Amino acid sequence: MAAKQIAIIGGGPAGLMATEVLSLSGHAVTVYDGMPTFGRKFLLAGKSGLNITHSEDYDRFATRFGTASERLRAALDAFTPDDARTWAAGLGTETFVGTSGRVFPDVMKASPLLRAWLRRLEAQGVTLLTRHRWTGFADDGLAFETPNGPITIRSDATLLALGGASWPRLGSDGGWTTLLQDRGVDIRDLEPANCGFDVAWSDVFKSRFSGAPLKSVTATSDAGTFPGEFVISEHGIEGSLVYAHSAALRDRLKRDGEAALSVDLAPGRSIERLAKDLARQDSKASISNRLRKGAGLEGVKSALVRELAPHTALSDPEQLARLIKTLPIPVLRPRPIAEAISSAGGIGFDSLDERYMLTSLPGMFAAGEMLDWEAPTGGYLLTACLATGRAAARGIDHWLSDTGGA
Ligand SMILES: Cc1cc2nc3c(=O)[nH]c(=O)nc-3n(C[C@H](O)[C@H](O)[C@H](O)COP(=O)(O)OP(=O)(O)OC[C@H]3O[C@@H](n4cnc5c(N)ncnc54)[C@H](O)[C@@H]3O)c2cc1C
Repeated sequence: MAAKQIAIIGGGPAGLMATEVLSLSGHAVTVYDGMPTFGRKFLLAGKSGLNITHSEDYDRFATRFGTASERLRAALDAFTPDDARTWAAGLGTETFVGTSGRVFPDVMKASPLLRAWLRRLEAQGVTLLTRHRWTGFADDGLAFETPNGPITIRSDATLLALGGASWPRLGSDGGWTTLLQDRGVDIRDLEPANCGFDVAWSDVFKSRFSGAPLKSVTATSDAGTFPGEFVISEHGIEGSLVYAHSAALRDRLKRDGEAALSVDLAPGRSIERLAKDLARQDSKASISNRLRKGAGLEGVKSALVRELAPHTALSDPEQLARLIKTLPIPVLRPRPIAEAISSAGGIGFDSLDERYMLTSLPGMFAAGEMLDWEAPTGGYLLTACLATGRAAARGIDHWLSDTGGA
């Protein structure tokens, strides 16, 4: 097949992975990104330790994408967590498995990998254009805002890899939703995923404990029961344990109008044991002393019980023990999507064919976080972005071979 002109819009992990595959197939690929540099969210992900994939059993790994797991399976099978590690190593970034099973680059950050990746793409002849913001469709082409004013480009095939809507200042702001809806693409509302929640803390609790971590606890929601830690924030709760429950809490809030994260503040002790130890305390002692001596709770853990427990429970050892084991933290709403790690919603799979092509826009493909899937933190997000970028690139190649292009 003669080389074709391919436009990749969005230079994050999904777009760059597709670029790599298509330029290796011999196509003339141009990557357009609205920001002054590529991969800004990828770089931010590396600020707190880039979690590139996960080492758990692959069959388990492949179920982490909720209702979209089945639909993503072929793309993941073709680019597994092991492939992600081999790919990173090919760019000079060796990885290691952390104690949690998560996989990190030796250097923990994303910048060396991204630098090497962009260098390699340029060496493959890819044209990389920043400050080119896609603004929609025009005259049978694609319209962009550039530093030199508006331009229109034409391509034989196009991949959209515009990301979700979290952290919009890094470039992915979900502005594409209306552009595609106008063209008959089914878009599910973009919602916060892996996010914190608002809680109606009292002013006293908030001012004393905002920023305090709750370590070695377990938390339960419709998602299940997981150990971990989270942080009290000015607005409510955030941190990895909350993120693990965030989809379940968000969906429960939508369904019932209310939701609570149930926290076990003393995972190593039974209710019976706690009740006995609490009953042994002097009933005239302060509640703080009884919680400290009877349940080993101090600081933010003790304050959380006092903040949330009904007054009557504080003097009843049995009720108090039960609350310590299943303390419900009522959440009001997710924090805004701009603060979330990722987003749920996006292009519905019904609008895509098996090749990741938009059925209402032949020749236009989509990949990455802009598709309607979500996953917990743990390297699942990046792996699926890379895998769908790769799958869409293969889809473009096949479509071009079948049809000869637009
Ligand atoms: C704080 C934080 C930490 C994270 N840590 C991890 C982690 O450790 N592990 C993990 O797996 N995931 C992590 N993630 C999530 C991960 O970074 C994203 O899922 C991933 O970057 C999404 O890749 P993408 O290519 O689909 O989109 P993006 O990376 O968002 O890239 C989309 C690109 O499209 C460009 N764009 C958008 N609109 C336009 C337009 N109209 N015209 C031109 N260009 C446009 C943007 O500028 C951007 O460069 C983290 C996210 C955040 C915010």
